[in-house]
Amino acid sequence: MAIVRDIAVVLRRFEYSETSQVLVLFTRAHGKVRTLAKGMKRSTRQRFAAAVDVLDVGAVALLEQRSAADGLSTLTEWKQQRFCGGLRERLDRIHAGQYAAEVTAMLTEDWDAHPALFDALAELLSRLNDSMGVLDLVVGYQCTLLSEVGLWPRFDACVLCGRRSELTTFSALEGGAVCRHCEPSQIEKRSVPGAVIASLAAWSAAAGPPFDRPPDVRAFDVLDYHLSHAAGRPPSTGRLLRAHFEHR
Ligand SMILES: [Zn+2]
Repeated sequence: MAIVRDIAVVLRRFEYSETSQVLVLFTRAHGKVRTLAKGMKRSTRQRFAAAVDVLDVGAVALLEQRSAADGLSTLTEWKQQRFCGGLRERLDRIHAGQYAAEVTAMLTEDWDAHPALFDALAELLSRLNDSMGVLDLVVGYQCTLLSEVGLWPRFDACVLCGRRSELTTFSALEGGAVCRHCEPSQIEKRSVPGAVIASLAAWSAAAGPPFDRPPDVRAFDVLDYHLSHAAGRPPSTGRLLRAHFEHR
């Protein structure tokens, strides 16, 4: 069995037994890896175990066990690299981080590496730690995630007829914008203002900061709708995060 060394963000954490937990890690060079962390539970007085939590970033060593029946590799080392204290001081930032972690776990496969996506997630957590606008950061991350996993929709023209104007609707199934003329034939759809579709059409992975204006919350909604459709369920943290945007 190979020892894998990498840097990782903790995406999810489950209790496994009295003394162990399952950590779903997103590693930079190996993608998502599910690991069993023995003796790493927090708040056990008897041992000085490392307390590892969702959104923590650390250097890891793990015993690779891809073929194990439970799919769990064994985490043998965890060295905390960054503690995002500022992130945990405000509920909207916590929910934004949790949402990013959840959608990353939903849309990536085990052992499928996405170094650029890892960097985007680490950058997001770092920026959430400061005072950046949460909606901008989350929409930027949704864009990067969908692009990285090959699910970036077409926003510049109608996916059905190629028309570049009168784009009024979005279809997750068709993978993009649908014009007013094609819309009646679509069953799965949601209406999206043309200005929101245009702002998303202007986004590209290479262009750096995605928007020249703060994105509309409806950009968050259509991207959340699309990734929920792709994953087969909405992220459970989506509603919590969305509630912060209502009060803007
Ligand atoms: Zn059309």
